[in-house]
Amino acid sequence: MPKRLRPFIPPSLRVVSVTSEPQHVTVLAVPRSLTACCSACRLRSDSVHGSYGRHLADLPWQGRSVGLHVRLRRLRCRNPACPRRTFSETPPDVAAPHARRSRRLHDLQRHFGLALGGAPAARLAYRLAIPASPSTFLRFVRAGPTPVALPPRVIAIDEWAWRRGCRYGTVIVDLERRVIADLLPDREIEVVAAWLRRHPRVEIIARDRAEVYSEAVRQGAPEAVHVLDRWHLLRNLGEALQEVVGGEHAVIHSVTRTLGDERAAALRIEQNRARPATASDRRKLARHAPRRARHAEVRRLHAPKLADAADLAVRFARMPRGQSSEPVTDWLAAARSSVLKRFAAGLQRDAAGIENVIALPWSTGPVEGEISRLMTIKRSMYGRAGFELLRQRVLNPV
Ligand SMILES: [Zn+2]
Repeated sequence: MPKRLRPFIPPSLRVVSVTSEPQHVTVLAVPRSLTACCSACRLRSDSVHGSYGRHLADLPWQGRSVGLHVRLRRLRCRNPACPRRTFSETPPDVAAPHARRSRRLHDLQRHFGLALGGAPAARLAYRLAIPASPSTFLRFVRAGPTPVALPPRVIAIDEWAWRRGCRYGTVIVDLERRVIADLLPDREIEVVAAWLRRHPRVEIIARDRAEVYSEAVRQGAPEAVHVLDRWHLLRNLGEALQEVVGGEHAVIHSVTRTLGDERAAALRIEQNRARPATASDRRKLARHAPRRARHAEVRRLHAPKLADAADLAVRFARMPRGQSSEPVTDWLAAARSSVLKRFAAGLQRDAAGIENVIALPWSTGPVEGEISRLMTIKRSMYGRAGFELLRQRVLNPV
């Protein structure tokens, strides 16, 4: 029995006995090695001074929880120059000092916390006979190592919402590896610029046109190549168009109403064709005539402006898709004398960024996917998570 169990306990231990109960298995074990190194001077010793036991929770066995009772020795240090008289042996692969669970159980529970968050991890772990409280799982996640990512070369910077409309953070995505490179707790210029200074290998930065990020990039990575984000560019264009159309909305509304009036009048005339026009019909037609003339004039004046804007919008939308040979500067020149002049003026400074959208293969497309992963994790934490915990769960792929 002990021989078959051997692979199920840490390799540096030897099983002495196994006691099995319906819900629980107790394994008594001792270190395989008869000697141990002094914790201060590293000199090996086999001079036993005393012994003590450590009780550790370990990986479950067939649905039963396992208690690992390890009998450890206290040894004398034989090195006269060493400040320590005695030391206790600690097999390094078994457990951290003072821990109440084996290292391998700790690792497993930490991964439960990373994958599921505190409460769901605690519920599942209970069923798997490795119970711990939700706060224990979260503590393991917080205290765990942050993976050391390779320094990114091509990144996208975008915001993510802690609470929509209220509090935002910044997400940095490694576009070459398609993973989140880091998560920042806010979107302050200084914080983003400092991150960029800590990552001098970044060469290409895809971003939206938010002033915060363009300024942060100017301060933190002045040498980097900017690529404006297609999606945000087109959204900005949509907003500019909406603004233009909104301004013309009153006009359009009244034109539409007139059209409706005219259609209704035409329908009435159609219905009453059999009946000759009455004096009342003639009066109504005469009354509406000036209004119809006015709206015809309005349509004549406004429709070309809107058609012009629509044409510019279509030409612009083709550019970031690489479907247009029109130089960005030509488009900007044309747009400056149109109803989209405010949008064009805003783009003037980012003209190089737009050209790079066409010239370089990078886009912030993968960012949306990463942000939705981030949001899923955030929601599973019921809004109680601290930033560090969220960052750990996002940066540690499970
Ligand atoms: Zn020593």
